[in-house]
Amino acid sequence: MKYVSTRGQAPVLGFEDVLLAGLARDGGLYVPQTWPQFSADEIRAMRGLPYSEIAVRVMLPFLGGAIAEDEFRTIVEDAYATFDHAAVTPLVQLDQRTWVLELFHGPTLAFKDVALQLLGRLFDHVLAKRGERVTIVGATSGDTGSAAIEACRDRQNVDIFIMHPKGRTSEVQRRQMTSVLSDNVHNIALHGTFDDCQDLVKAMFNDVAFRDRMGLSAVNSINWARIMAQIVYYFTAAVALGAPDRKIAFTVPTGNFGNVYAAYGARAMGLPVEKLIVGSNSNDILARFFASGTMSAAPVVPTLSPSMDIQISSNFERLLFDLLGRDGAAVQESMDRFRAEGKFAVTDAQLAEALTVFAGHRVDEAGTMATIEQVWGECGYLLDPHTAVGVASAETAALDPDVAVVVLATAHPAKFPDAVEKATGRRPELPPRLSDLYVREERLSELPNELGAVQAFVAARARAAKEAA
Ligand SMILES: *Cc1c(COP(=O)(O)O)cnc(C)c1O
Repeated sequence: MKYVSTRGQAPVLGFEDVLLAGLARDGGLYVPQTWPQFSADEIRAMRGLPYSEIAVRVMLPFLGGAIAEDEFRTIVEDAYATFDHAAVTPLVQLDQRTWVLELFHGPTLAFKDVALQLLGRLFDHVLAKRGERVTIVGATSGDTGSAAIEACRDRQNVDIFIMHPKGRTSEVQRRQMTSVLSDNVHNIALHGTFDDCQDLVKAMFNDVAFRDRMGLSAVNSINWARIMAQIVYYFTAAVALGAPDRKIAFTVPTGNFGNVYAAYGARAMGLPVEKLIVGSNSNDILARFFASGTMSAAPVVPTLSPSMDIQISSNFERLLFDLLGRDGAAVQESMDRFRAEGKFAVTDAQLAEALTVFAGHRVDEAGTMATIEQVWGECGYLLDPHTAVGVASAETAALDPDVAVVVLATAHPAKFPDAVEKATGRRPELPPRLSDLYVREERLSELPNELGAVQAFVAARARAAKEAA
């Protein structure tokens, strides 16, 4: 199994190199040269198997022999043992044709754990084999930092430094990060804004000498292995509901297009999928693309579903690569135009091809709140605001009545208690694994908004730096 860059200028790589590289050297994203194929019989044979077994079957072809099957099985089982539900990603029925796929039973109560719990362990495995270490640095506004920290905690060959703007995250968000006391986890409360945190991360990567000495790396959303891990639950959900002998559609609350691109991958591997409904909040660049064929940037507005408040869906480039006939130069041209003019377009034929698989839908704030209220009233089930965007999108999709619709639940309602309480009058409780969060010991370091201070802090603690010295 080899991987090619969507911009066609970076070297073709195997799995291990793609895992550690993240972004391709030409600025593109890595995709498999060809998709592994599963026959209807092979998919049928997945029925009734544990999550980790389906995970091994679905992901093994992507490794191209880089990790032996038994070793990989151990890594996968270890990653998903951190989830506090025996099914890992259970299905819950809302009405005769709609199911919610709960992806939030991992350590930080959001779907990013599904990919990141595996990614951290894969990093460690490959680094150990190579005798290398890396230093992960990242910035968070509060929402995604904890998933990266939980992915890297206690890993032998990884140190992680996450900067958050001091006093500007919610208390739950801060505590989910700072109560991880592992020696290789370093929380920095920066005297500055989220943008300051991001600027400092960029500056550290741009300082080539520093970057090389520290072995800087990232676990960002464009890493191929994250997509690979997310393909698995499309298979587990579909076979649980009767695939390949039953029609299934998926509705995915979308930001960076990573999760829904994984669904596209599952379909490319042979899983029958009727439709992929892309749910957007008021930041509706994707819904506008699927309506018009033009991707055009607009300012980000804050919403009740903050993990989808983004202007550029970076993983969309992977779909664009296919729409443009896997022509890297054409992708590069579109991306250059997007950077220069804030928009690019595909042809009518290319849009029509996309619409055979995808449908876009936008849900505003009122629609999000109304959906949380309605589902609570009809099913006694609490939706988080991201999942509510998915449920509302599913309701409006024009699908045959015999198609089962699976909505991906990307966050636990207790992660967004204020919106849920406002819509339903019910305040969702933290699950048992986090019920003592408010009394846990915290560890964090406050630093001024100065590159020199942050670099000195990292250099004094990163094990990669100590070994280089
Ligand atoms: C990251 C995230 C999303 C968006 O997922 P993408 O893969 O970026 O489309 C949706 N909901 C929640 C809760 C998230 O954390």
